[in-house]
Amino acid sequence: MLRDAIRSLAEAKIAPHAAAVDEEARFPQEALDALVAADLHAVHVPESYGGTGADALATVIVIEEVARVCASSSLIPAVNKLGSLPVILSGSEDLKKKYMTPLAKGDAMFSYALSEPDAGSDAAGMKTRAVRDGDFYVLNGVKRWITNAGESEYYTVMAVTDPTKRSKGISAFVVEKSDEGVSFGAPERKLGIKGSPTREVYLDNVRIPADRMIGEEGTGFATAMKTLDHTRITIAAQALGIAQGALDYAKGYVQERKQFGKPIADFQGIQFMLADMAMKIEAARQLTYAAAAKSERGDKDLTFQGAAAKCFASDVAMEVTTDAVQLLGGYGYTRDYPVERMMRDAKITQIYEGTNQVQRIVMARNLP
Ligand SMILES: Cc1cc2nc3c(=O)[nH]c(=O)nc-3n(C[C@H](O)[C@H](O)[C@H](O)COP(=O)(O)OP(=O)(O)OC[C@H]3O[C@@H](n4cnc5c(N)ncnc54)[C@H](O)[C@@H]3O)c2cc1C
Repeated sequence: MLRDAIRSLAEAKIAPHAAAVDEEARFPQEALDALVAADLHAVHVPESYGGTGADALATVIVIEEVARVCASSSLIPAVNKLGSLPVILSGSEDLKKKYMTPLAKGDAMFSYALSEPDAGSDAAGMKTRAVRDGDFYVLNGVKRWITNAGESEYYTVMAVTDPTKRSKGISAFVVEKSDEGVSFGAPERKLGIKGSPTREVYLDNVRIPADRMIGEEGTGFATAMKTLDHTRITIAAQALGIAQGALDYAKGYVQERKQFGKPIADFQGIQFMLADMAMKIEAARQLTYAAAAKSERGDKDLTFQGAAAKCFASDVAMEVTTDAVQLLGGYGYTRDYPVERMMRDAKITQIYEGTNQVQRIVMARNLP
């Protein structure tokens, strides 16, 4: 029922704008409005904070179905989870009440600010500083590649509180867009997910109350990594949705397109490609849903499974979308058809929330 509901909403209200959102590289406001109206913009927020309390699998299905028609729009529910999960996992009750309630209502979005210009895969090498000053912390630094920066009201920001301790000297904070000293860079000009704004966040003497710290001092990096264990599964869901969208489009196209006097779908070479695409998507789906169940239960092997799901599903998305372009021939290579956008959008799923090389490092360290 959830899938049917989100699929019809996505097809009616999000899909019609997907090409323009990509072409104009603009924020998908129509998608945000439709998701908020249907209470699907941040489904993971617990009911006790006014949310819908969807479990990890239901959240995955929402993201998958939105990504099937528009990957950029799927970053709305995905990044709302990414940005707010540190507070849900490790924040005080007061922080949860204060920040989850507007998120659940759709009055605010949440972003996640870990990466920096010189600290990507090695996120613990970050330089952003948070220095205690009485009942306040003062933050200075640059966060890079922040999804929905400028659109979100709230930011989970990881910053160094003790430079002698590397990852154990990092703490997490909630920073608000309206805090004095917060500003944003120009939107990055990207290959894909052009509707999802990616900008730098500048923190210039941002003075925030000490109770905006998420959990204890020095636990921020651990919270950031624990968050990724859960949210990499949402990237797997996004990859899965993009791949399914490309397969669905190609499946229809090959029945219409005629060469050598018959639909190209009649050629075994084409049928085998479609079979492989569907097989890979189904394998990615099973891995992703199993990982979502593990996320919900907090199973011990979640770290391996989350990394495996993200890595596998994103590689599948890249292969399937490339094959979808192939199935459309020259037409697939043009912006008149959606599969080239899907191929460009798929690429990011192999890069963010840890590149697929990093996922393999994570898996190797946590072999089942
Ligand atoms: C569109 C977009 C949105 C993003 N959104 C966010 C966000 O909302 N919040 C956030 O905090 N970050 C975000 N990121 C950042 C993203 O997570 C990083 O780009 C990513 O982790 C890689 O870091 P890097 O770009 O610095 O690459 P680097 O770390 O410089 O990596 C370069 C290459 O080296 C490889 N490599 C690095 N170390 C190793 C190693 N030990 N072994 C093998 N290979 C290695 C990498 O896999 C990669 O292929 C986003 C990025 C993009 C592009």
